[in-house]
Amino acid sequence: MSEKEVVSCDHKTIESSGMRKLVVNCKRCEREHSISDCLPGLLLSLEDKYDIDSIIVSDFMEKQYIGPGVDILSQMRDMAGAIESLSSRRQNRDECMSCELRPAQLYPNLKRKFIEDPGSIYSELRSIAEKTDHKQGCPGCKKSLMEEIEILGKKAISLKSDILAEGFDIVG
Ligand SMILES: [Zn+2]
Ligand SMILES: [Zn+2]
Repeated sequence: MSEKEVVSCDHKTIESSGMRKLVVNCKRCEREHSISDCLPGLLLSLEDKYDIDSIIVSDFMEKQYIGPGVDILSQMRDMAGAIESLSSRRQNRDECMSCELRPAQLYPNLKRKFIEDPGSIYSELRSIAEKTDHKQGCPGCKKSLMEEIEILGKKAISLKSDILAEGFDIVG
């Protein structure tokens, strides 16, 4: 499977009559027909944008997302940020640097999988939990991993699973 890099869509924020809008231009994004093809790019576009009141996505048509749509996307953005923030946990033993569960590799991978397919977060976390469970010889890392999985698990549950299962189309 090729792992094409995920990049944000062409975007800018504008402010008008007290509303902050994220304007996303997908006219030149490579994708098929569905808005969900641009979900990863859209989430990256939202990455450092807070207090957005509406999101306007324009490709061959223009769609505006307000209220619940913005809320869902913002929650997904926060989840991706929470995953990424765990990548920086330091490790100092040689064995830990080459462990498949080392944060610098585990969490960027998990983030990429999440933004490409948000609904996969549950099975991904389950599989990480299983690997953690079987991990031997490093109680320190095991403990940290268990705590991190619990934090992410709680967040994932609070993202409505039915919305994740439907992907982005439900808000469209
Ligand atoms: Zn796009
Ligand atoms: Zn370790």
